[in-house]
Amino acid sequence: MLSHVYRFLKQNNVIHLKLLMILLMSCIPDRIDLSSNHLEATPPIPSHFNSSNILPSLKKLCLDGYFSFENNQYAARDFGNTHHFLPSAVLHPKSVSDISSTIKHIFDMGPGSQLTVAARGHGHSLQGQAQAHQGVVINMESLQEQEIQIYTGEQPYADVSGGQLWINILHETLRYGLAPKSWTDYLYLTVGGTLSNAGISGQAFKHGPQISNVYQLEVVTGKGEVVTCSENQNADLFYAVLGGLGQFGIITRARISLEPAPKMIKWIRVLYSDFSSFSKDQEHLISSQDSFNYIEGFVIINRTGLLNTWRSSFDPKDPIRASQFNSEGRTLYCLEMALYFSPNEVDSVNKKLERLLSELSYIHSTLFLSEVSYLEFLNRVHFSERKLRQKGLWEIPHPWLNLLVPKSKINQFAEEVFGNILNYSSNGPILIYPVNKSNRWNNKTSLVTPDEDIVYLVAFLSSATPFSTGKDGLENILTQNKRILEYCAEARLGTKQYLPHYSTQEEWRAHFGPKWKAFQQRKLAYDPLAILAPGQRIFQKAIPLKTHLANQPQRKYPASFGA
Ligand code: FAD
Repeated sequence: MLSHVYRFLKQNNVIHLKLLMILLMSCIPDRIDLSSNHLEATPPIPSHFNSSNILPSLKKLCLDGYFSFENNQYAARDFGNTHHFLPSAVLHPKSVSDISSTIKHIFDMGPGSQLTVAARGHGHSLQGQAQAHQGVVINMESLQEQEIQIYTGEQPYADVSGGQLWINILHETLRYGLAPKSWTDYLYLTVGGTLSNAGISGQAFKHGPQISNVYQLEVVTGKGEVVTCSENQNADLFYAVLGGLGQFGIITRARISLEPAPKMIKWIRVLYSDFSSFSKDQEHLISSQDSFNYIEGFVIINRTGLLNTWRSSFDPKDPIRASQFNSEGRTLYCLEMALYFSPNEVDSVNKKLERLLSELSYIHSTLFLSEVSYLEFLNRVHFSERKLRQKGLWEIPHPWLNLLVPKSKINQFAEEVFGNILNYSSNGPILIYPVNKSNRWNNKTSLVTPDEDIVYLVAFLSSATPFSTGKDGLENILTQNKRILEYCAEARLGTKQYLPHYSTQEEWRAHFGPKWKAFQQRKLAYDPLAILAPGQRIFQKAIPLKTHLANQPQRKYPASFGA
């Protein structure tokens, strides 16, 4: 019934269509609980739109690629390994037009179909963000066959598919002596996946996140339109999509800014026992004009033989004193830095390193150095991945929590979280490093950050031991994450989640704060039926009006979508 009304309005009057969408999307209750990770708890699909009549219609689409309707369990998994939603179909696109035809087809079904679409990059989300319960998952890596095109010259760039892995881009650009400027710590992630979040790593203090290093995008919107956008062309869509959590369109191509690639890296680690000296040095380094090329850091709580474990990849500057250093029972902070250089610059880079280190106040016996190729450095997490895979410890639950903490509150945060809430850190690394947003971070994107120039990324990268009920078990780690979040809220630290995950629309509203209205308006403009990225659980594809009115007799509808 609803779809007939919709079709009639669509054919006759665009304004009426908009009004209907406003009404439908404003029907999403503020406190709708989007948190369940159990398939049976998801609202049932109305019988007239069940998969038995949707799937044949998908089969009729004329595509370069194909749909698979069976053996799609992998699309209900991700790196987090705690949320599992089985799709009805997986599209393996071979062209942008496959994606556009599929979305257009679903858009034309109208709001009653409840069919949604999730782009799946490399599926390294943490809580089902790239999944679509009984919907269509688009396997973006199938688009990888499109070539990576490199343009050399004064402002070099690479044109790449949205489903391309960063590791492949690195290999290809290095052949031209070039490379992207801003990275993630791990490179087996897709361009579309990281640009939908931000892409933050140790280069972001200087170059901004990956979303600040994109010249142009090609996007398929929630209406199936293929749009090219950039700072100067369809700029609103460009900024909406960057950091947009997949809500406004599917990134099918991206133009990534490149720089000359260094050959070698000096990779340095030093330790601090005092948080304020550690963060003071980090802030000093990210603010210096001629600094390191990469700056990160991590927290170490009560580890035995820490420096011995580093010796397989790093050399201590002072081996005797380093071997006497005792990390047991202590909370330590490791500053990690990298300096890029070419083999013909060894002397000058050594001088620069000496100067930079002389400005820092680390524990002198803990200076560790290593020299590796650029590729080896950027691909460092893959080496750990291989080891963990061998031990069967890669595909286990990863209850990660990523926060952005304003500089003014970082000491308070560290004191409570590292001093009280966490007394056990063997569940995985805890990264902590500052970035300066006045360096190439753009507030027009959809990314939400705390309202200060300098913010710290704090990443609790925990792995849960399967079936454990101890400190290393999933429940315990989730409780600890909850305590950290509750503390941040109670102490009003102004933190924001990175790779955000919430259970209610009210929480999303609070997350976006003053950006919420624009986010909603962009949703209405580019994905009015809320077809895209349902796994983020921000908007729910319109519940049929009849059902909704029956369930919500008291509800007053806001006058407009953005209200
Ligand atoms: P997916 O998980 O497949 O998708 C993520 C979201 O983006 C989903 O909502 C999906 O629908 C949407 N999406 C996917 N492709 C597209 C597309 N083409 N167009 C539009 N939407 C799309 N992040 C950092 O910032 N810095 C790090 O250093 C970092 N290190 C990491 C290390 C590891 C080991 C892991 C597992 C993750 C890390 N991340 C890091 C997080 C990572 O950037 C995100 O989880 C990212 O979304 C994963 O990319 P993916 O290709 O697997 O995306």
